[in-house]
Amino acid sequence: MLPEPIQILLQSHNQGIPFAPFAKPVLAVLTCMDFRIHLQMPENFAFVLRTGGANPEPVEPYLAFSVARMGIQAIALIGHTDCAMQYPDPYVLNHLPAEEERIQHYRAQIAALAIGEVKLFTRRQARRLEERLGLPVVPLLYRVEDHHLAALQAHPLEYAMDSMGLERSL
Ligand SMILES: [Zn+2]
Repeated sequence: MLPEPIQILLQSHNQGIPFAPFAKPVLAVLTCMDFRIHLQMPENFAFVLRTGGANPEPVEPYLAFSVARMGIQAIALIGHTDCAMQYPDPYVLNHLPAEEERIQHYRAQIAALAIGEVKLFTRRQARRLEERLGLPVVPLLYRVEDHHLAALQAHPLEYAMDSMGLERSL
């Protein structure tokens, strides 16, 4: 059973079900900065953070702060199909009209922020955030092809692999 704020997100986004504006936010959303993602949500419903690949690492303090300050009940971690941050080409940065030293710095940063396979990454990060922040963190996948949003089911093998310290083998 998904937490209620996640059910409301899915009903609002996928089915266009209208909800009255919320008195205060109940959800924090972290998704990718990809231009194709457009979420339909009730008013005053959620904090929204966006990073490349919905990678929580660069914004985790903001997530913690919004949860603590506003009594957020759940977090939606939303990866998406065709994400450029799965295996980003750091040499794209050669096109940046900046100094070579600066470009090298960005190249290294982008390479370090690569997420690999999006479903595996999103599920694993959701589990890690849930352990650290102590509230439900639900991994979801946004299909940019048709804008459908769906919860990502856990892959039973991943739990075993995590406990063995294996990464990105699926
Ligand atoms: Zn993306």
